[in-house]
Amino acid sequence: MLAGMMMNRPLLISNLIDFAGEVYGTIPMVSQTVEGGIHRYTYSESRKRIAKLANALIAMGIKPGDRVATLAWNGYRHFELYYAISGIGAVCHTINPRLSPEQFIYIVNHAEDTALFFDTTFLPLVDKLKAHWKPIKHYVAMTDKAHMPDVPGLLCYETLIEPASDQIVWPEFAETAAAALCYTSGTTGDPKGALYSHRSTVLHALYSVSSINMAFGAGRSILPVVPLFHVNAWGLPYSSAITGTSLIFPGPRLDGPSLFELMELEHASGSWGVPTVWMGLLAEMKKRGRKPVGLKHVLIGGSAAPKPMIETFEKEYGVTVIQGWGMTEMSPLGTVGHLLPAEEDLDFNDRVELKAKQGRRVYGVELKLVDEEGNKLPHDDIASGELFVRGNAIVSGYFKNEGATSRALDKDGWFGTGDVARVAPNGMLTIVDRTKDLVKSGGEWISSIDVENAAMAHPGLANCAVIGIPHPKWTERPVLVAVKAPGANPTKEEIDKLLDSKLAKWQLPDDVIFVESLPIGPTGKVSKRDLRTKFTDYKLPDLK
Ligand code: ADP
Repeated sequence: MLAGMMMNRPLLISNLIDFAGEVYGTIPMVSQTVEGGIHRYTYSESRKRIAKLANALIAMGIKPGDRVATLAWNGYRHFELYYAISGIGAVCHTINPRLSPEQFIYIVNHAEDTALFFDTTFLPLVDKLKAHWKPIKHYVAMTDKAHMPDVPGLLCYETLIEPASDQIVWPEFAETAAAALCYTSGTTGDPKGALYSHRSTVLHALYSVSSINMAFGAGRSILPVVPLFHVNAWGLPYSSAITGTSLIFPGPRLDGPSLFELMELEHASGSWGVPTVWMGLLAEMKKRGRKPVGLKHVLIGGSAAPKPMIETFEKEYGVTVIQGWGMTEMSPLGTVGHLLPAEEDLDFNDRVELKAKQGRRVYGVELKLVDEEGNKLPHDDIASGELFVRGNAIVSGYFKNEGATSRALDKDGWFGTGDVARVAPNGMLTIVDRTKDLVKSGGEWISSIDVENAAMAHPGLANCAVIGIPHPKWTERPVLVAVKAPGANPTKEEIDKLLDSKLAKWQLPDDVIFVESLPIGPTGKVSKRDLRTKFTDYKLPDLK
């Protein structure tokens, strides 16, 4: 092989913010703050504060490879921490505040975090768990002097960075060095750490902007509802810097009316989040009879985007929906549901059908379907099997967890997603279900996503989830647990009738149960595990 003769510069995260600070220096960044009020500055000002913070971290004794934890909302200081921590070669460990106390204690100790930066909102949580966190040496409140809680030994973010220089020459090191750490929400067993490298992060940002190009660019803005503590807000801090896209951080206010207000005030052109968030925003849009001025697209990911949600955004409000599929272990982007020109010309209903699928793989991600024996299945949109993935922004194992690592990868080094899927010859991916959420009935599999999608077409439902209930003859039977829309009173018979017209007989739920609300897990998605626990004593109608 003849070697190419091109430079080999390391792909480092610090280059992204240097680039944005210089090339997109005047582009604004906006944050709803924890203290109240809106904070505004530019990429260039952000770059200066990031340098100050990086110098302050070095002065505190943070060394390359150290894990520095954050416990914070989406805001400018959190964004600064992302760049300053990774920039000096340390590892930014974002923690999801919605984890259970046991998980919290486990991951801080497992990650061996040496410092914790937190929004003052989380002071009670920090106070409660502090005694259990052995490795943490520094606690820093992400606020200014005026808002500092009176806690002995607690450091103040603004006081820390104030005397530091705003100039820095970033250290250069191997692009394979660890940059960020995010634990999965641990729906099975202990949370597992995905340890992103500089290289994987920069490549993932490039993959994202090349696949979702309509969302990015100077003059465009994105409001990330997806938290910085969940898979790096789907990579937005990095992809926005490369493209000069404004970020509008919503802080702690994630309810429909607050999101609407901020989007409108800042003319957000896009917003990214999980379906539960959009239910709140859509309710506010319905109340006002319009969309926030300027909103052009929403990216829906994390769980399946219900068809009626896509229809409402597109038909009633003229907001383009892009569905994304991925996972913590994939940085997270795997597929994106934008349509090709000929597909854009289809009838509205056919377009919605396509948008309800999970989309096509982004450049840099390869997909493989396998049957239970590990044999490769065709991409014919008929065969369904477990989805395996491969690529430079996909984990090669879990941090300090050999057992989980060996279970996650197949003999050829592909990562098993735990999702069951079909892939069409044109590359369209359909997620049938999570392996553990499929309902196993009489030797057949029922996709809980299919049944939920069919039921959500009823205007009287605000949300629903299907779970499998054990059955002595059929192994499991599906049951639909539903939340009524405000002011609506749908009946079980109406839902049954609707589903009967859309599903095969054996796929129909054995029961429809109305509840006040569905349990929401730490990443903002409906938690089927909690729902199953809630229904452990439930008896199916034919077994009563
Ligand atoms: P966690 O596992 O911590 O809840 P992740 O965000 O890593 O969080 O979850 C990844 C899983 O979420 C995927 O494996 C898949 O089951 C589900 N998922 C993500 N996006 C979609 C989507 N667009 N449609 C259906 N399922 C999705």
